[in-house]
Amino acid sequence: MTVILGGGISGLSAAYYAIHNTRLSSVILLEASNRLGGWIRSRSSPSGAIFEQGPRTIRPSGLSGMITLDLVERLQLNDKLIHADRNHIAKNRFIYMDETLHVVPRTLKDIFTPSSLGTLINYIWMDLRAPKVFKEDESIHSFVQRKFGQDIADNWISPMICGICGGDAHEISVNMIFLFKYLFEMEQKHGSIMKGVVVDLLKKLFSIGSLYHRMKVDKMLVARLPTLPRRSRNEHWLMWGLQGGLEQLPLALADYVKSRGVMIQTEKKCEKLTFKSDRVELSVNGNLQECSRVISSLCAKDLAELLQEQHPKLSAELKAIPTVTMGVVNLEFQGDVLPFQAFGFLVPPKENLPLLGVIFDSCIFPGSSTVLTVMMGGAWFEKYFGSNPSKEQLLTTAINHTKNILQIEEEPIAYNVAVLKDCIPQHVVGHNARVKRIHDYISAHHIPLALCGSSYQGVGLNDVILSAKQAVYNVAK
Ligand SMILES: Cc1cc2nc3c(=O)[nH]c(=O)nc-3n(C[C@H](O)[C@H](O)[C@H](O)COP(=O)(O)OP(=O)(O)OC[C@H]3O[C@@H](n4cnc5c(N)ncnc54)[C@H](O)[C@@H]3O)c2cc1C
Repeated sequence: MTVILGGGISGLSAAYYAIHNTRLSSVILLEASNRLGGWIRSRSSPSGAIFEQGPRTIRPSGLSGMITLDLVERLQLNDKLIHADRNHIAKNRFIYMDETLHVVPRTLKDIFTPSSLGTLINYIWMDLRAPKVFKEDESIHSFVQRKFGQDIADNWISPMICGICGGDAHEISVNMIFLFKYLFEMEQKHGSIMKGVVVDLLKKLFSIGSLYHRMKVDKMLVARLPTLPRRSRNEHWLMWGLQGGLEQLPLALADYVKSRGVMIQTEKKCEKLTFKSDRVELSVNGNLQECSRVISSLCAKDLAELLQEQHPKLSAELKAIPTVTMGVVNLEFQGDVLPFQAFGFLVPPKENLPLLGVIFDSCIFPGSSTVLTVMMGGAWFEKYFGSNPSKEQLLTTAINHTKNILQIEEEPIAYNVAVLKDCIPQHVVGHNARVKRIHDYISAHHIPLALCGSSYQGVGLNDVILSAKQAVYNVAK
């Protein structure tokens, strides 16, 4: 028997992939709280507007994006799917600094205008002349500052990290963002980004035959894709969501797996795991249960507690993956009160405001009122709100700053306030090495335990669904 810990999107996805794996027979999913979905939570305002307390949009790109869309199709959620394509106004994003909203360039063409040519040449010159620096890992702020200067690191990259994980760019690893990971690797391999990128391009050009072959294979693969991932590629989707809220995805998953024999038990908190030579013992709400293998979708620091007694070394590594807390305030205003249409704006930490950013939900997926989500705190939650702020404090802070920045006169007609404690794991410098040590420990000690969720590979929904698919594969090997 396989036990899955956690009924968020990764635990439920693991249950989905487990029932499609012939090597796994009976599956039980244990969830500590009284509901499923984890951080995915959609609430309705009195007028029927959707307040997303957690995630709201998903990117369709890449292999993981396609896997998620494939899942949506198999769950028959196609008719609820709403999407924004690449020309949608959701491509407009702003940064709030020096009391003004600045447009974020949308494409490389917007960045490299004739007037910015001098700056570009300067970056290339600096990059080629810079002394060689060899590092295993580096913070994204430090890397960008070294290569592109303090201004870009403080005003453009730091807020982007706030938007992705509520984190501090001085601590988050350069490996977290694909583009910077690539540039860092090029620099480390070739001594400078410029040299690395040129060598990489030349290699691709000289293997033009294989490039042509790859393009042909790509075309063939796209033609074989399931309908939704293919549609998303052909129609150039930028992002997608679900009518009525994203919570429908975990709920549909739960219905699907339950109807195929998975036993889902809520209000069942696993308190301890003990791995014996022939079985696993779980202490659940004070009672002993047994199974043959465990898939954990818990946040690393929650899992650490369960392993503390038997595997203190593994527990310490898991505990060392930090998390941040977010204050999320959804606001609804009557009619259209926004001065412009966009995805929203982000706030650089150096502005010393409690806001990480504001998402314009009703611009992304329009409704009859204006719906905004204010994200606050993150790595600076304690600094601005202390350890136990009241909901009133969060609400007042969110309303005052949002109205001031967007020059909105009206008062909101509805709101929702939530403190999401330890909601986003932080992939700080040294994260990849730590995750490798965790996996090495598990395999060296032959522990029948597989890990999925946002603590290890990536924090987006696509990442955690893919991690669930991989965890099932690993545990069933
Ligand atoms: C505010 C916010 C906005 C976000 N926006 C986006 C977005 O727009 N797009 C995107 O792609 N991603 C977004 N994310 C990220 C995404 O929501 C998360 O990565 C994802 O929901 C994590 O799901 P999970 O199942 O791994 O973990 P969780 O949702 O944390 O689920 C874990 C579950 O385990 C349960 N549990 C804990 N301890 C135990 C125990 N001992 N025994 C049994 N059960 C236990 C918990 O109650 C919980 O239900 C956002 C996240 C947040 C917080």
